[in-house]
Amino acid sequence: MKPKIWLSSPHMGGTEEQYVKDAFASNWIAPLGPNVNGFEKDIELFLGQDSHVAALSSGTAALHLGLVLLGVKAGDEVLCQSMTFSATANPITYVGATPIFVDSEKDTWNMSPVLLEEAIKDRIAKGKKPKAIIPVHLYGMPAKMGALKVISAHYRIPILEDAAEALGSSIDGRKCGTFGDIGILSFNGNKIITTSGGGALVSCNESIVKDARFLATQARDEAPHYQHSKIGYNYRMSNVVAGIGRGQMEVLASRIEKRREIFSKYFEKLNGKKGIHFLEEPFWYFSNRWLTTLLIDPAEAGFTREDLRLALEKENIESRPLWKPMHMQPVFEQYPFYGDGTAEKLFENGLCLPSGSNLESDDLFRIFAVFDEVMR
Ligand SMILES: *Cc1c(COP(=O)(O)O)cnc(C)c1O
Repeated sequence: MKPKIWLSSPHMGGTEEQYVKDAFASNWIAPLGPNVNGFEKDIELFLGQDSHVAALSSGTAALHLGLVLLGVKAGDEVLCQSMTFSATANPITYVGATPIFVDSEKDTWNMSPVLLEEAIKDRIAKGKKPKAIIPVHLYGMPAKMGALKVISAHYRIPILEDAAEALGSSIDGRKCGTFGDIGILSFNGNKIITTSGGGALVSCNESIVKDARFLATQARDEAPHYQHSKIGYNYRMSNVVAGIGRGQMEVLASRIEKRREIFSKYFEKLNGKKGIHFLEEPFWYFSNRWLTTLLIDPAEAGFTREDLRLALEKENIESRPLWKPMHMQPVFEQYPFYGDGTAEKLFENGLCLPSGSNLESDDLFRIFAVFDEVMR
């Protein structure tokens, strides 16, 4: 069997171990410590926009804290992009709120501003104004934040921006993660950079980030004994793990460059082939191209997404259908959904291709050989 080609696997830069060793040498093994502070500073510098960052144990934890900090409570409604990973929607239920799913639009595959406004009007007509909006930048492609922010401001509903897949993506030079009232990032094992597991909460409002750090460390009031006036969480990133993050931040720019180069190679090879369509980047957008994705139109192509996926699997090459929309998931299908069939179509015809920054040209050669065979 030829070696496995993964969709997206961790890719260390080399200096991570030194930061981790420093943590051991100074016995900063606990949560908090110089690596955590340093990692937060590195991300703040990278994001710009006077952003403040709290390093947390995961992107999911960041979303959960984000909802808590926006004051979302049991019985509230939260508008959420349907086309996403379940980690975007799960935290809505952690706070006892109800997810209201919104479909994607064709240009970016992310939350449709038109359907978002339709959903807001209908929820208000039904008697409840939603408490938050969660758009996602899928596969690194920025959502239409301009239009979404206009709606957010008009109806006074804050945005919790899920930038888990979009570290390094930007619109008109402004980085994803800095558009929402609160943004979140993920450093899970498959993301563009990883700490093996981790996440961050981002906001331009420093007091929100201070509150996040407070809640993430069990909400301990200042007192010599343990004193609590709020419910806390154990969501802080550990100083060991943050050391990996510091090393990864040193190579982030080159990781983005490599992912974009991989996209270009797929594009050069496959664009214009019958029934194969790429998600192109509007010119004022910059996508980190976390994963290269494509759509197969079976009527034009003469084969289906599944034919291609199985052919790749036979060669020990991992690929995966696009995210199955939340409104189609057994666990979420009873919740309201505002849509026009876009996400369903994307799920039916879309495929994520191996896109890791450690992909070699030999790997691409093997992948293209499968395409040649299937397209014959
Ligand atoms: C990975 C991911 C998350 C969750 O991040 P974790 O760090 O794995 O908890 C949330 N949303 C999206 C869109 C993701 O891809």
